[in-house]
Amino acid sequence: RAKADELRRKWHILVDGDDVPPPARDFRDLRLPEPMLRKLREKGIIQPTPIQVQGLPVVLSGRDMIGIAFTGSGKTLVFVLPLIMVAIQEEMIMPIVPGEGPFGMIICPSRELAKQTYDVIEQFLVPLKEVGYPEIRPLLCIGGVDMRAQLDVVKKGVHIVVATPGRLKDLLAKKKMNLDNCRYLTLDEADRLVDLGFEDDIREVFDHFKAQRQTLLFSATMPKKIQNFAKSALVKPVIVNVGRAGA
Ligand code: ADP
Ligand code: MG
Repeated sequence: RAKADELRRKWHILVDGDDVPPPARDFRDLRLPEPMLRKLREKGIIQPTPIQVQGLPVVLSGRDMIGIAFTGSGKTLVFVLPLIMVAIQEEMIMPIVPGEGPFGMIICPSRELAKQTYDVIEQFLVPLKEVGYPEIRPLLCIGGVDMRAQLDVVKKGVHIVVATPGRLKDLLAKKKMNLDNCRYLTLDEADRLVDLGFEDDIREVFDHFKAQRQTLLFSATMPKKIQNFAKSALVKPVIVNVGRAGA
């Protein structure tokens, strides 16, 4: 524990919550499959950033988490890497059948951000599939795109949905997709989601979850509004704050 505190001081990581898992200063300490480690190296990602050092062990432990860190600090991998890992594990135990899924959901405030996040997921899925890991089907669920192509993916069975609130709400309202199996939810750029007025839409999405879920919320800032929103959406979260944002 003293060692964990020392590492956190060194990396300027503030944590709050019960029984916070210790930081991991190397990606190799996280039991990531080898193709994922290789892809990280290919992307020039060698050392985890502070939010990754503390955030990855928290998310992999199954806890709800609020991650606060400035833009460009590497928050995406904190939710993407664990989500791919659990999706693979779940798929091996109980495969998603046609019409089922998703297992995990990522909600983003803009189409551009959703597309970027989807692309990062794809980058890691390709090398995994190449060496025989089960196929994980992601879906980019955004407006401005023909809904039929999206529905085709849903029909095959989808594992991970990266969505903007509007299109997601449409699909759920039309009963084209259900969240009965969805157990992992990430709200990315929560400050922007709330600023853009998506709070009520997201609360509606919450109502579609049937199973107990792990919820993660990421933000560059943490004004009171977001704190209250987080309180109502997360259960006993670990708060990881890097830098001075909202402190
Ligand atoms: P944030 O969501 O916090 O704004 P991103 O997750 O979008 O930041 O990451 C910003 C950039 O940093 C991306 O290009 C990403 O590939 C890169 N990156 C992420 N983690 C690392 C790392 N550990 N080392 C080097 N670059 C990284
Ligand atoms: Mg981000």
